[in-house]
Amino acid sequence: QPEMDMDIFNTLESNVRSYSRSFPAVFKKAKGYKLWDVNDKEYIDFFAGAGALNYGHNNEKLKQSLIKYLEQDEITHSLDMATVARGTFLRRFHDIILKPRQLEYKVMFPGPTGTNTVESALKIARKVTGRNTVISFTNAFHGMTIGSLSVTGNEAKRSGAGIPLSNTVFMPYENAVENVSSIKMIEHFLENRSSGLDLPAAMILETVQGEGGINAASDQWLQNIASICRRFGILLIVDDVQAGCGRTGTFFSFEPARIKPDIICLSKSIGGYGLPMALTLIKPEYDIWEPGEHNGTFRGNNLAFVAASEALDYWKTDDFSKGIQTKAAEMTHFIQKIIEEYPELKAEKRGRGLMQGVACAKDEISEKICGEAFKRGLLMETSGPKGEVFKFLPPLTIDEEGMTKGLNIIDESIQAALK
Ligand code: PMP
Repeated sequence: QPEMDMDIFNTLESNVRSYSRSFPAVFKKAKGYKLWDVNDKEYIDFFAGAGALNYGHNNEKLKQSLIKYLEQDEITHSLDMATVARGTFLRRFHDIILKPRQLEYKVMFPGPTGTNTVESALKIARKVTGRNTVISFTNAFHGMTIGSLSVTGNEAKRSGAGIPLSNTVFMPYENAVENVSSIKMIEHFLENRSSGLDLPAAMILETVQGEGGINAASDQWLQNIASICRRFGILLIVDDVQAGCGRTGTFFSFEPARIKPDIICLSKSIGGYGLPMALTLIKPEYDIWEPGEHNGTFRGNNLAFVAASEALDYWKTDDFSKGIQTKAAEMTHFIQKIIEEYPELKAEKRGRGLMQGVACAKDEISEKICGEAFKRGLLMETSGPKGEVFKFLPPLTIDEEGMTKGLNIIDESIQAALK
């Protein structure tokens, strides 16, 4: 008899965005790409903490660094005092990530989570420009607190605030509206000062929309956006909370587009071990905050710094990135195969890297496929405004065996869902 069952969650847990509804099991153990529930049933993880577990569960190297740190009674909480763990992370992030990519940014710790980095980005962009309006995009997801929610392009989520969230204009993401170029549309609104659109402080975007349907922007579109921003003195914020940290094959998702955003938001997998951590990278000329203008009790988690520093080892050579791209190619191949094999899904491939998905025209089918996958021991989530996309997000460290097993379960689940 397991020591714990679902009853306690069904009676006590809040129902707001609760994963215990889509994954009705009580989990107790995890390693790499696998999890086990209290009945010892094994699951393959194609969810990876919504992108927070890129290096897998209980990654051995990261775990050892944490155990050693704890055993030596090093600092765990220190507000934003200077600590060895914090300094080590900053040095390694500069040497391994920023310097080889010729990126010059000030690193700021905005608070523990993704929404904190978005809030800080919006705040600094407004302070720098003295402007208020922000351009965001349809189906964007940037977080659940008032500022980040106000740039989230999903009415159902925004309605949680109970009040109109103003100061954001949502433009169509690339290809969001058939036959409409969002680039031309944005330019038109900005050029026409009688459009009523105030010159914005910032544009904020995800290069691949994680929650909004795995829509991936092209390099060309990103370059055009960057050039509009330069032309109108708008700061470009790339929210790499989900698409960053290697998810799309390079450390930053925008690297193939060769753009240099003014502000970059990172969280989720930057903490390495699933520990809360967020970073805001700001071009040095925009670092204008006075001490105390942005702080918070938990904005420097030393345990997260320790795991994060160790995780950066994966980026010392190109091998990790190449490995992700090989696995991504296998995933793409699989998706193309199922689109051909199951025409009744009326499916379309979405995304890139190890952040891909299948958009289905048939209502509810994606959720059904995820349900069938769960029964067969695979965790997978839906994405998109109607949950029409089933989304493949395994840990980047997944091996050949895990990938094959996971994809086979998806194939079986599609067959079961179509019956
Ligand atoms: N930005 C993006 C792109 C995200 O995917 C998320 C979380 N799904 C957030 C911001 C918010 O992060 P958090 O849930 O840690 O506040």
